[in-house]
Amino acid sequence: MKIFTSAQELNYELKNTALAGLKLGFVPTMGALHSGHISLIKKSKEQTDLTICSIFVNPTQFNEVLDFAQYPRTNPEDISILESNSCDILFMPSVEEMYPDKTYESINFDVGNLNKILEGNHRPGHFNGVAAVVKRLLDLVQPSVMYLGQKDFQQVLVLKKLIKDFEIPVNIVVCETLREADGLAMSSRNRLLTIEERKEAPFIFSQLNKAKEEVIKGGKSYDEIREEVITTFKAHSLFTLEYIDICSAVDLSPVKENMNNHSLVICIAARLGTVRLIDNVLVP
Ligand code: AMP
Repeated sequence: MKIFTSAQELNYELKNTALAGLKLGFVPTMGALHSGHISLIKKSKEQTDLTICSIFVNPTQFNEVLDFAQYPRTNPEDISILESNSCDILFMPSVEEMYPDKTYESINFDVGNLNKILEGNHRPGHFNGVAAVVKRLLDLVQPSVMYLGQKDFQQVLVLKKLIKDFEIPVNIVVCETLREADGLAMSSRNRLLTIEERKEAPFIFSQLNKAKEEVIKGGKSYDEIREEVITTFKAHSLFTLEYIDICSAVDLSPVKENMNNHSLVICIAARLGTVRLIDNVLVP
């Protein structure tokens, strides 16, 4: 695996690759890699000629100082995981390399309604930071395909909008959420949980599944279903629920019970101690 920390060197390498006409697959990450990330790498290896992974803990998408400070950074382990999964190129830039001037950092990307709901509502500025970093990375790497996880459902919609608005010629492949055996969605933040918190963490997925069953069964309004989940979370001493919402899986807009044939997604964000976790399930 070739490792680049400088944008110029990466550019030079990729110019040669482009000349050879290879199909590039790109997997942007913030590192502390787990099997969820690796499933994206594997998908890219299957579908493209050359797989590039980036690791960059992007300061502009963190809206809390503590979250950025405590975000796990495990570069040596990440490198060996990527090597053993035959990743071709790793790009691990510094902040200065990513944001040499204000061009990208100060991008004011119109995320539209996605900025007002769910993650957009609870994490001011987050999606603008995500859009800025991904725009910079896509301009540098110019891949044919970018691989993203369904785990960050709203992020996928934001990035699809970015690509459309800037007319960036890249396809997006969304990969399903990989889970631990007990149902907890894999996440870099899971390693910040205490032993006790980790034991309780699958509660999020079990509540998502409970809500999903109720939606499928019918007979209760979506508000009732939401209220039940909110009450159950309130009774749990370790969790603070930020939101549970039942939304359109197309654009995350609010849905009414009578909107049959509408594919839905149920999204949750909750704090477990100091760690903020998100998860979602599709319905059906
Ligand atoms: P992150 O390092 O958290 O920014 O994630 C990098 C990419 O991996 C994003 O596209 C995520 O949606 C995806 N990802 C994170 N967790 C999982 C998971 N459990 N299963 C599949 N993809 C994931």
